[in-house]
Amino acid sequence: MIKLKNKKECTGCAACYNICPTKCIEMEADKEGFKYPFVDKGVCIKCGKCIGVCPQLKRQKNTDEKHEVYVCVNNDNQDVERSSSGGIFVLLARQILSAKGVVYGAAMDNDYQLKHTRVDNIDELEKLLKSKYIQSDIGFTYKYVKEDLTKNRNVLFCGTPCQISGLNNYLGKRYDNLLLVDFACHGVPSQKVFNEYLKCRNLNKCKHNYEISFRDKVNGWEEFGMSIRENNKIIYSKDRREDTFLKVFLNDIALRESCYTCIYKKSERISDITLADAWCINEYDANLYNSKGTSLIIIHTLNGEHTFAKIRNKMCINSVAEEYVIKYSYGMFHQPIKDRRRRKFYKQLGKKSFDKLAVKYDGINFITRVERKLNRTKKKYIKF
Ligand SMILES: Cc1cc2nc3c(=O)[nH]c(=O)nc-3n(C[C@H](O)[C@H](O)[C@H](O)COP(=O)(O)OP(=O)(O)OC[C@H]3O[C@@H](n4cnc5c(N)ncnc54)[C@H](O)[C@@H]3O)c2cc1C
Repeated sequence: MIKLKNKKECTGCAACYNICPTKCIEMEADKEGFKYPFVDKGVCIKCGKCIGVCPQLKRQKNTDEKHEVYVCVNNDNQDVERSSSGGIFVLLARQILSAKGVVYGAAMDNDYQLKHTRVDNIDELEKLLKSKYIQSDIGFTYKYVKEDLTKNRNVLFCGTPCQISGLNNYLGKRYDNLLLVDFACHGVPSQKVFNEYLKCRNLNKCKHNYEISFRDKVNGWEEFGMSIRENNKIIYSKDRREDTFLKVFLNDIALRESCYTCIYKKSERISDITLADAWCINEYDANLYNSKGTSLIIIHTLNGEHTFAKIRNKMCINSVAEEYVIKYSYGMFHQPIKDRRRRKFYKQLGKKSFDKLAVKYDGINFITRVERKLNRTKKKYIKF
C-alpha cells in the first residue's frame, strides 16, 4: 500500500492511481488544493503495484544517449505568438498529428480546471499550447497513453518532469512510438490558488468562453503577463510584476512542497526532449533573439533526435555552448527556495481575498533573499 515516509515528497504524479487494479486509490486534494493518493484499506489487496511505480520510491535512470543543445525559433511568427517560448512544442505536436498520432498535454476545461488532455487533430491543438502555471490533473491519462501505444499510434506526451517520470514507471518499458517532452519546470502552485485568483477577476460564472493566458506577449516575450480575453477582446491584462497570480507564482511562496526538493533539476533527463525559454539570448547570440520568444532545447535520445530532424527546416536554429545554459537557464538546475511564510499563506488562502493576500505576501523577506542569492552561486558547480 502506497505510503511515503514524508508526504512532502509526493509529486502527485498519479502513477499509483493509474496502476491500481482494484481502484482503491483516489487522488484527493488536501487543504492547499494539491492532490495526494488516498487508499481505501478495505478494498486494497496489498499487491504492491503502487509502490513499484512510485518515482519517489523507484528512481529512474536518465535516458541521455545524446546531449545536443540548441536555441531556436519557429519560422512562423503566429506560432511563436501563440506559444510560451519559441513555439517548438507546436511543431513537434503537428509532426506527430500529421502521422495520425495523438498528443497529450495540459488544457483548461470549461470551468478553468487544468487537466491533462488527449488531442488527435490539429484543430484541437490550440488548447494545449502555452504554459499554464498550476499543476495539471493527470486523471487516467497514463492508461489512455498505454492504450494508444498498444494500438501502435504515435504518441507525444508533454508534461512536467515528475509527470514524465510517473508515466515512464507506469509503462514499465520504453516504446519506440512514444515521444516524451518535458520542460525546465519552475514548480507548480495548486488549482485552488488559481480558483481563488479567478474569484477576484469577477468573471461571469455562466460564461465559459474566456481565454486565459499566463504568458501573454502583448508587451513582448520577456515582459509577459496575464490576460483574459472574451471573444478575442482583452478584458483583463497585467504584466508579471503587477498581476497577483504571477507575483505569487514567481515568488515561490505557493509551489507544491515536493517542488522545493525536486529531484529532476539537472540537465540529464528521463525525457526525449527538454524545452525551455532561452532567456537573455540577445546577450549571447543576437541573431537568434526574437522579441516574441526564443526556445532552448536539449535532445536526450535518438528518438528525440529523429523527430526533431523532421521539424528542423521549420525553424531558425543554432547550437549553443553549455556555459550559456548553465548561466541563464535557472529553472533547469535550481530547486526553488521556499518562502518561509508559505504555511501562513496557505492557511489564509480562501479566507481572505486572493488579491489582498498576494499584496500581503508580496516581496521576499531578508533570509529568503540571502538563501536565493546563495542558491544562484551554485551554478559554478553544475555538471552538464
Ligand atoms: C509550470 C511550468 C513552469 C515552467 N518553468 C520554466 C522555467 O523555470 N524556465 C524555463 O525556461 N521554462 C519553464 N517552463 C517552460 C516554458 O514556459 C515553455 O513551456 C517551454 O519553453 C515550451 O515552450 P513552447 O513555446 O515550445 O511551447 P508551449 O506552447 O508553451 O507548450 C508547452 C507545453 O507544455 C504543456 N503544459 C502547459 N502547462 C502545463 C502544466 N502546468 N503542466 C504540464 N504541462 C503543461 C502544454 O500542454 C504544452 O504541451 C515552464 C512551464 C510550465 C508549464
